[in-house]
Amino acid sequence: MTDKLDQSAGADEVHAEYKYPFHWDLDFSLNIGETNRRFFAALEDKRIVGKTCPECGDVFVPPQSVCVECYVETDEWIEVEQRGVLESYTVCFFQFDKMPEPPYVTGVIRVDDSAICMMHFVEELEYEEPMDLVDKLEKGDEVEPVWSNDRDGDIFDMDHWRLAE
Ligand SMILES: [Zn+2]
Repeated sequence: MTDKLDQSAGADEVHAEYKYPFHWDLDFSLNIGETNRRFFAALEDKRIVGKTCPECGDVFVPPQSVCVECYVETDEWIEVEQRGVLESYTVCFFQFDKMPEPPYVTGVIRVDDSAICMMHFVEELEYEEPMDLVDKLEKGDEVEPVWSNDRDGDIFDMDHWRLAE
């Protein structure tokens, strides 16, 4: 007969004395694949490209290698309008490591009728109190990208988005 183990130290109990400090600071490379590579290369030229599904015709920005509805490989590349619609947004009031100084706005942006959205910062909003930012935007607002002067083929070649003029 086996002794029953002590069941009292459940996973939901985190005692201060069990905590052990760790630090991760890793440099590493990630295989982003051909689809993302072409997307980023276009951003460096201040162009936004998407990929199209041969079955349903949906356009994906950011480009996807497979249609999320039909599960077939996307094939045609197209350059899309540099316009987007704000589908949702959130205002951050707290400082997170390696993130901008708060307050800042992160938007869920549908670029040129894409079937999916991308996230990016929405800036150039005037406000007096940080809380005012919450009412500065609404779903359906048109937004446009503002390109970085210093582009090297990544998502921050678009420095941020702003309300379209
Ligand atoms: Zn499809």
